Amino acid sequence: MRGLPNRGKSKLTMEQTDTLVIGAGAIGLAIAARLSQHTDVVLIEQAHHFGEHTSSRNSEVIHAGIYYPSHSLKANTCVAGKAQLYTHCIKYGVPYAQIGKVITAQNTQEEAKLASLLAQAQHNGVDDLYWLSQSQLAQKAPQLNAMAGLYSPSTGIVDSHQFMLSLLGQLERNQGQYVPCTRFIRATPCAHGFHVSLECDGAPFALSCRQLINAGGLFAQHNATLIEGLSGIHIPPIHYCRGQYFSYQGRHPFKHLVYPVPEQHGLGIHATLDLAGQLRFGPDTQFIETLNYDTDASALDAFYHAIKRYWPNVDKQRLQAGYTGIRPKTQRQGQQDFQIEGPEQHGLVGLINLFGIESPGLTASLAIAQIVAAKLQVEQT
Ligand SMILES: Cc1cc2nc3c(=O)[nH]c(=O)nc-3n(C[C@H](O)[C@H](O)[C@H](O)COP(=O)(O)OP(=O)(O)OC[C@H]3O[C@@H](n4cnc5c(N)ncnc54)[C@H](O)[C@@H]3O)c2cc1C
Repeated sequence: MRGLPNRGKSKLTMEQTDTLVIGAGAIGLAIAARLSQHTDVVLIEQAHHFGEHTSSRNSEVIHAGIYYPSHSLKANTCVAGKAQLYTHCIKYGVPYAQIGKVITAQNTQEEAKLASLLAQAQHNGVDDLYWLSQSQLAQKAPQLNAMAGLYSPSTGIVDSHQFMLSLLGQLERNQGQYVPCTRFIRATPCAHGFHVSLECDGAPFALSCRQLINAGGLFAQHNATLIEGLSGIHIPPIHYCRGQYFSYQGRHPFKHLVYPVPEQHGLGIHATLDLAGQLRFGPDTQFIETLNYDTDASALDAFYHAIKRYWPNVDKQRLQAGYTGIRPKTQRQGQQDFQIEGPEQHGLVGLINLFGIESPGLTASLAIAQIVAAKLQVEQT
């Protein structure tokens, strides 16, 4: 390991730290940046670079907080995190654009679903959604086939890489340490926290910490099995649900994000733009048994038909298989919530496990970090 913190905030020696955060995705980075304001933090990442998994394989949408059940962690952290993320982007110069989104209905059944989405959004504190008239629809979403549409003005897009880089900068300005190529191997509870075994660039390394945060994303469940004293009843199942994108080459009429009504495991094959104006469609949903990011060109027909429902002019020849991301589902059916589990759930003082941080985790990341800090009570110390 390339040196460990010993910077005077605490009386810790070289092989100790206050807080060890496992995983440098958006969630681990947001937590490490926040905690480093008050404690010594080491953030480890098994890959060569931060954000190589889910945090760089998503739609980069700043979600408004419309879809999630009232009082769920998803609803609360999405709405709070959205506001924090916009403020953060302005403060740290992270590229973003609040371009808004149109949610479309093709028939009266779907229109009724839009009405319940509007009500759900209001329950969640998202009170700026409004119905589009036919002329507003034609203006906001030209060429779109829609019987009705809702508009969400607070939805936006963000450069997720620059966002993560800004968090890394915050961590390092607070004297925290980021260590790539370093894998969490095992933790054993001890009198003052945990003895932890790591593998750094292939070599074993031992460290002790007072607080241990498992923000391992798709690997969080596996990491949890490596923590002695943590009962299996506190480790939910993991199901990999792959989402694939197709990019669209050439000119298009989209100025806002365009979504169909949501489906069971995701938000439906929607149209998103990146900050360069590149149009892409997705993600679809497919449960897979082993972790792989392979694309499946044979999904083209399904994409074409899903897109054609709301954009009849789509040119199939211009659709190209793009990239995939994987949702860390804790269940195969129904709505799942984020799980942020501390000692009050599992009994191990100083340990926080984060499970099932699927969408809207990027939007919610700063609010999730705030919850973790509150659970650890670091901001009162
Ligand atoms: C298809 C798709 C689309 C999405 N779209 C959006 C969207 O538009 N807007 C939005 O808000 N959210 C979206 N999300 C959700 C969002 O991307 C995730 O919630 C977020 O990126 C999760 O971040 P994370 O840090 O938990 O996970 P990750 O980014 O996967 O990071 C976890 C990190 O932990 C590391 N790690 C794990 N175990 C160990 C170990 N033992 N030792 C060391 N390191 C370890 C991993 O290598 C990894 O880098 C989407 C997700 C998917 C799958």
